[in-house]
Amino acid sequence: MFLKEMSRDECQRVVAAGDLARLACCKDDQPYIVPINYALLGNCLYCFSMPGQKIDWMRSNSKVSLQMGEFASNRQWKSVVVRGRYRELAQAQGRRDERILAWSILEKRPNWWEPGGLKPVPREISGASAHVFFCVEIDEMTGREACAGEL
Ligand SMILES: Cc1cc2nc3c(=O)[nH]c(=O)nc-3n(C[C@H](O)[C@H](O)[C@H](O)COP(=O)(O)OP(=O)(O)OC[C@H]3O[C@@H](n4cnc5c(N)ncnc54)[C@H](O)[C@@H]3O)c2cc1C
Repeated sequence: MFLKEMSRDECQRVVAAGDLARLACCKDDQPYIVPINYALLGNCLYCFSMPGQKIDWMRSNSKVSLQMGEFASNRQWKSVVVRGRYRELAQAQGRRDERILAWSILEKRPNWWEPGGLKPVPREISGASAHVFFCVEIDEMTGREACAGEL
C-alpha cells in the first residue's frame, strides 16, 4: 500500500460524489464534531439542521472543518478535509431565496430532512419555522488516498 496526495480536482470529485461528512466546529477552545449530510454546489456545501449546539457554536465561530471520503478497505480509501466558513441562509423573496436552492439539491436524497429534523426529545417550536439551512463556503481542501500495491 502507498499514500498519495490528492489534487484539488480529485478532492472535488470525492466531495461531489458523497453526501455524508463529519462536521467539526469549535467554541472556547472546545471542538465538537457530528455527522451531517450535505450537497455540494459550486464552492458551497449545503446543509439542513434544527437549532441546537452545533448551530449555536457555528453562529459564534464560523470557522469549521469537515471530513468525508470513500472507504473500500484499510488499504484502499480516499479522505478529504475541508476548511471553510459557516454561512446561514437567510430568507429572501422568490427565486433569490438561497434556501430554496439548498432544499432543491438536498431533496435529491430520500428522507434527506430526517436525520437533521429529529431530536431525542421533541422541543416546543416557537415562531413560524425553526429549521435552519446553511452552507459552508469552502476555503481549502486537502485529500489523501491509500492505494493498493507498490509505489
Ligand atoms: C448519518 C447521519 C446523518 C445526519 N445528518 C444530519 C443532517 O443532515 N443535519 C443535522 O442537523 N443533523 C444530522 N445528523 C444528526 C447530527 O449528527 C446531530 O446528532 C444532530 O444534528 C444534533 O446536533 P446538535 O448539535 O443540534 O445537538 P443537540 O440536539 O443540541 O444536542 C447536543 C448534545 O447532544 C450530543 N449529541 C448531539 N448529536 C450527537 C451525535 N450524533 N452523537 C452523539 N452525541 C450527540 C452532544 O454531544 C451534546 O452534548 C445526522 C446523523 C447521522 C448519524
